Amino acid sequence: MSHQIYHSIPEESFKVAHLNTRSMALHIADISSHKDLLSSHVICISESWLKKQHNSVDFTPNGYQLHRRERHQCYQHKCDHHMLVKKCSKCNDKGGVAILVREGLPSSEAVHATLQDVEALAVNIQHPQIGPIDIVTAYRPHHVSKSIIVSRCHSFLQTLSSQSLKVVAGDFNVDLTKEGPLINQISTTEKFVQP
Ligand SMILES: [Zn+2]
Repeated sequence: MSHQIYHSIPEESFKVAHLNTRSMALHIADISSHKDLLSSHVICISESWLKKQHNSVDFTPNGYQLHRRERHQCYQHKCDHHMLVKKCSKCNDKGGVAILVREGLPSSEAVHATLQDVEALAVNIQHPQIGPIDIVTAYRPHHVSKSIIVSRCHSFLQTLSSQSLKVVAGDFNVDLTKEGPLINQISTTEKFVQP
């Protein structure tokens, strides 16, 4: 596993990447050696597939700090696994989100009270040049309604300071050609732009 870090962009710029990893355990070596990816200050990850027993140290490329929220932490949900052959879609070990933040950028996890029952993670960064930046990463599996994840993200964004720069990056499993208006709900009210 390569642990080289690339400082190829100027300090006053801020680069955010998002990728759906479908298992960090399977792809951490790829992430840790990907030159373009490692030029990012923040790497948002959906479908981390991390489990409780996974040690963060093993999933943190050199020069970054890892924030993580696994699927089982996201849902207020109980089901009797002894009765099931297979874990259900809310408590299996897939899904989950993570955010890698470049070391040297002070970051802290938000209180996730308003992000209950959605797979989303929010981190606040205090950037020395840019100021406060709030990053939200979300993953919507097919069993979660689109309106729930949009309304939760919307409510959460309203709890944040109006002074911060806000970035939402995720995998919403939405076909924009058919369901643009749904995402526009958030973009319009929050004055977001989609790159
Ligand atoms: Zn369950």
